[in-house]
Amino acid sequence: MCGTWVMKAVYGDTYTEDHDLIHAHKACNPEESVQSVGEVRRAAAAAGPSRRRMFGLAGALGAAVTGMGLLDAKPASASSPVAGAKKLFGAGRRIVDMSHAWGEDFPVFRPFVEPPKFTQVASVEKEGYNTLIITMDEHSGTHMDGPKHFDNGQLATDEIPAESLIAPLVVVRITDRTEKDLDALLTYDDLRKWESRHGRIPDGAVVAMDCGWSSRINDPERIFNRDADGKPHFPGIGWDAAEFLASSRNIVGVATDSPSLDSGANNYIDPRAHKYLLPTGHYGIEWMANVDQLPESGAMAVIGLMKHKGGFAGPVRMFGIY
Ligand SMILES: [Zn+2]
Repeated sequence: MCGTWVMKAVYGDTYTEDHDLIHAHKACNPEESVQSVGEVRRAAAAAGPSRRRMFGLAGALGAAVTGMGLLDAKPASASSPVAGAKKLFGAGRRIVDMSHAWGEDFPVFRPFVEPPKFTQVASVEKEGYNTLIITMDEHSGTHMDGPKHFDNGQLATDEIPAESLIAPLVVVRITDRTEKDLDALLTYDDLRKWESRHGRIPDGAVVAMDCGWSSRINDPERIFNRDADGKPHFPGIGWDAAEFLASSRNIVGVATDSPSLDSGANNYIDPRAHKYLLPTGHYGIEWMANVDQLPESGAMAVIGLMKHKGGFAGPVRMFGIY
């Protein structure tokens, strides 16, 4: 109701809602000299339906404020961002949202994860505001496995320093073989080939696997590809690559667009990509979105991580900027 406080500032203690209507009408019809709400209503009735729409409250307030010259442009809001990000990152930059929207129907990797439950406990219609209570596994939607997930001596998610959540983004694509090989792994060779093209993996980087699974998000069968025994088949980080990254490169974390750091098959055999990376202080993001839109090298990742105390994992809103 910014229009109302403007009008209150203009009229002080004498302000009534009538002033909003009168000013709105004058702003839209500068040739008319209405003085009262009654005159405004008569003018609106005479004007017909198209102009009468202006007499809805939102229209009236907006027109009043604009007409008074107080706002020259559309105001900023969460849904119509303005120059903030462009100012920070430069006008030519692109910001890619690397998180999936998730709800009760978002796929979960059973038997390790249970689906979330959303309950609306207040609504605009009843209480005047909207609120949800969400009961969720930490591994819901696009999320981070924190260092403490496999090791009690490591950092909880709320203890991860902010500096580790803004990182050079290394994208290693293995999409050329994952359509045919559902168990494909990102290997040590893939990492060395990436380095031969772009140089050594930068210190403080997040190394992200693009296996093409982001585009399967609405098709759980093609995500998990369970066989007759119920065992899943999807790509992951190979043990040789995980061991190399954990011991020989100075990274902050890894990320996959599949449901897990380890491949579907390896999760049942031995989740060793998790075990190499997390207990050595790294994090791992799973179910990443839109990684196919990021370049192999040169982008930055910004990771907004849920900050619940003592967290072992948690949902993230991740961005890739290049
Ligand atoms: Zn997880």
